[in-house]
Amino acid sequence: MTFMGKTNLDNYMSTTWRQLPKEAKCTRCRQQATIPMPSHHANFCQDCFIHFFKTSVLRGIKHFPISKETPLAIAVSGGKDSLALWDILEELGYKTHGLFLDLGIPEFSEPSREAVGNFASQKWLTWSLYSIKEEFGFSLPEIRAKLRGKICAYCGRLKRNFLNRLSVRQGLQTLATGHNLDDEAGRLLGNLLGQRQRYVNKQSPYLPSPHPQIPAKIKPLYRLDIQEIITYCHLRDIEPFSGVCPFSKGATTKIMKQALTLIESEMPGTKRSFLFSYIKQASLEKDQSLFGICKQCGQPAYDDLCSICRLKDRISNI
Ligand code: AMP
Ligand code: ZN
Repeated sequence: MTFMGKTNLDNYMSTTWRQLPKEAKCTRCRQQATIPMPSHHANFCQDCFIHFFKTSVLRGIKHFPISKETPLAIAVSGGKDSLALWDILEELGYKTHGLFLDLGIPEFSEPSREAVGNFASQKWLTWSLYSIKEEFGFSLPEIRAKLRGKICAYCGRLKRNFLNRLSVRQGLQTLATGHNLDDEAGRLLGNLLGQRQRYVNKQSPYLPSPHPQIPAKIKPLYRLDIQEIITYCHLRDIEPFSGVCPFSKGATTKIMKQALTLIESEMPGTKRSFLFSYIKQASLEKDQSLFGICKQCGQPAYDDLCSICRLKDRISNI
């Protein structure tokens, strides 16, 4: 099994960390700096980087109406973002329980699960394992064989829905995901280009629960970008699984993220200001249209069938 850490982190370190000259000073403590932070126009030493990371999470979550007493479901995929998320929320004193959804993807789901299990046992954290095959009736490869073409949107819908359901099933009314600044800015750009104003309006790092069977959603890492998260994992000895989902080739959000990374490299700080200016305007009104009940599974739905049961019927009839 290959863990990300070594290869990916080494590449990252050699291209960014070691660029700083020996005499570079940490912006915060004036000791020697080893970590360049161009989008913040700063350089940090390792201790001050960890302080920066914690502060960024705290600055985000102080706006969420959740207390330290609220137990949190952590959606853990085994990747860098969700393991960093789990680690920092534990460090900050939150009560957490991990949820891993096995998608049944060969050479991807198994090492992802192992990364979650290893991390949890190192830190004595509790977690639950669920499988999409058991919950939905079909694994991702089975769904792909039936639907053909790109299935990222279906996979996203399934993950969102089942993580909601499983979180509530575990008695946890708040679900935290590892979405980072790049994910959120990429999604925003995609929604703006696709003129999906409804989604733009709803894009927020905190979404209140619209229904007792749907948890509130939080994205505590939304202020941190991918490189900052990789650096955090490295400094904290976190070993995520680095594999890329074999089904995700050509996913639209990936292209949006690449475009923003290009802009960011020429104009540091742009990605951040782009996302934050929109987030401020997000409306957090409860989604009033969601008060039907699915006649098949009893879950909240927009219609007489929920989107999961509709998808299941469609796949079953192919
Ligand atoms: P993605 O949709 O792959 O970009 O992942 C976004 C976030 O969803 C991750 O940071 C996790 O918090 C969560 N997530 C993704 N896949 C899984 C999974 N298989 N099991 C549990 N949580 C997941
Ligand atoms: Zn249903």
